[in-house]
Amino acid sequence: MENQVIIATKNSGKAKEFEKMFSEYNIKVKTLLDFPEAIDVEETGSTFEENAILKAETISKQYNIMAIADDSGLVIDALDGRPGIFSARYAGEEKNDEANIEKVLKEMEHIPAEDRTARFYCALALAKPDEKTITVSGTCEGNIINERKGNNGFGYDPIFFIKDKGLTMAELPSSEKNLISHRAKALQKLRVVLKDILDIGDEQ
Ligand code: IMP
Repeated sequence: MENQVIIATKNSGKAKEFEKMFSEYNIKVKTLLDFPEAIDVEETGSTFEENAILKAETISKQYNIMAIADDSGLVIDALDGRPGIFSARYAGEEKNDEANIEKVLKEMEHIPAEDRTARFYCALALAKPDEKTITVSGTCEGNIINERKGNNGFGYDPIFFIKDKGLTMAELPSSEKNLISHRAKALQKLRVVLKDILDIGDEQ
């Protein structure tokens, strides 16, 4: 299991982003879809970092190999940082994107344009057996608009407006989102860390 890494996710889209990063090494990327019996780790932490560490360390210990986990969400200033770590289940346990957006729009009904600042946040944790876990993070700044725009992406993308682009995240093609997103920025930092650990080259 020396040359394997498990990405602690069942999301194949996320796994693809990691596969790209590991493709130049002799390291096989696996996901929890390859380990259906893996423990379902409960996200009981109080920060994105704590949840990512919890997931990465649990899986790394269980299979005795390197594991990477992420935790991400939307942080809205006018809502004191909500939905934050509860982003996926903000409107309930069924994790419904539409209902989550509806709840945010309702809570922000009376918030003026200049106070609608927000950011997507992504924490990544890299755990190796018997070594200290490493975390990195990435953010993507934007504003919450008061109606949905665009059909790409997922989650809160249709109400997350990026000033530089003049578009919502859901109006951007995925190739562009993948250059500026919180996850892309965290992955870029992880790449630098991996460069030391695995002696990776600089080319993309
Ligand atoms: P998770 O870390 O993949 O479980 O994401 C948690 C939740 O944060 C998702 O269900 C979405 O509601 C929200 N979220 C995370 N990343 C994004 C994104 O890139 N766009 C929109 N919503 C996101």
